[in-house]
Amino acid sequence: MGRRSLLCLSLAHLLLAGCGPERSIAPGITLNGPAPTNVLFLSVDTLRHDVIGRYSGGEESPFLDSLLASGVALDDLTACSTWTGSTFPCLFNGASGSDLGLHGQLGDIGGSIPDDFRWGIRRFTARGYASGLVNANHIFNTGLGGFEASFHDVVSGTMEASSVTDAALVMAEDLDQAGAPWLLAVHYFDPHTPLTPPQSYLGGLEDLAPSPADVTAGWLDYSGEWEGWSQDLRDAFLAEVWLRYRAEVRYFDDQVQRLWEELDALGILDDTLVVLWADHGEQFGEHRGWNHAQTVHVEERAVLGGLWARTLVPGAWTGPTTQTDLLPTALAILGIDPYDEADSSEPEITGFVLGEAPADRIRLTTLAKENANDLPSAAISAERGSRVLIYDGVGNVELYDRAADPREATDLFDAATSGADPEVQALWQAIRAEGQTLIDAGLARPGQVPPGL
Ligand SMILES: [Zn+2]
Repeated sequence: MGRRSLLCLSLAHLLLAGCGPERSIAPGITLNGPAPTNVLFLSVDTLRHDVIGRYSGGEESPFLDSLLASGVALDDLTACSTWTGSTFPCLFNGASGSDLGLHGQLGDIGGSIPDDFRWGIRRFTARGYASGLVNANHIFNTGLGGFEASFHDVVSGTMEASSVTDAALVMAEDLDQAGAPWLLAVHYFDPHTPLTPPQSYLGGLEDLAPSPADVTAGWLDYSGEWEGWSQDLRDAFLAEVWLRYRAEVRYFDDQVQRLWEELDALGILDDTLVVLWADHGEQFGEHRGWNHAQTVHVEERAVLGGLWARTLVPGAWTGPTTQTDLLPTALAILGIDPYDEADSSEPEITGFVLGEAPADRIRLTTLAKENANDLPSAAISAERGSRVLIYDGVGNVELYDRAADPREATDLFDAATSGADPEVQALWQAIRAEGQTLIDAGLARPGQVPPGL
């Protein structure tokens, strides 16, 4: 027995990383010790990718940044949708809304996920896992789609981040003491509107020019007023929105840190895989919308993703991923075959274990919603490599170069020439096929084919 093995044995109760031979689970996943047994899905609503310090260089998320650095960061993760009701089934089932035959739909929230929908939580509970949920998103608090009923134990309601942390600590300790493997899903609602973090996070607010509208009332629904505001008023409004939003993110980050440190002190993280994710982003007027579920542009579509376990070799996965990849990757890390025939009665997982997706996969983000005329439509983006093509549901497309223009500010689509580009055509055909599934399901009406395609 070598010195390293002796050290590992003598310190085995600490489950130090670095002990044991490295074992590759998939191209993006390596373990250097025992596989974790338990899983914590740790998520947050409405977190813009570009406020995470790892990507912005800013200081809103120091703890998240440290987690991403000590785990495996999914640096290019795209959401299945920009609407909570669609991203949750996608994440917990490892399949897109089209694959699952459903789309969360604005204006028809309750009817968009059947009450007997088979959530992927069953893949764990069928294997003896105890399960718990702490959920602060009010959409699912009403029992939407049977989500909460798929867990053994639930704390659910409108809660600010500190209450989520308190409830999660109690539930994690209960689950961990019961002895069986466990799954815990914790969903924070800050930094979703209303933008009302604790006062202590709002330093600098008094120095701002007065906003022309109340940005704390809830959903930011001022697109009508915006047109009539002077540039000074617009700047004042945006300054307060951003200050409050960043404060919400900072507050959330502190609460995750508290959760983490207390779980760690109890030893609960030693044998636990943590799946870190955000459901969607948020936009503040960048692409003709406010809040989310408005469009499928980058500020709403790009999301946080990461994996952490004591024995998971840290790294950054910069290749393209979607939310459908997180469940199969988590299962693989836990030693459960994501494509096990024992789960044949569950909805099929169509996502990929990290690093195993085909290089030519086109990633789709789909938002079923009503258009300006109250007709069902769908905004759909298709992206591959540096290209993203975005269809607005009523006959317009935009084309962006993600590498040169990460904020998607300069539309490159040219009706005279873009249609001749095979890559643009491939993205358009993927959008058409996705749109057809929504039309067939009665969730969208056929839109105009954009000129040039
Ligand atoms: Zn959400």
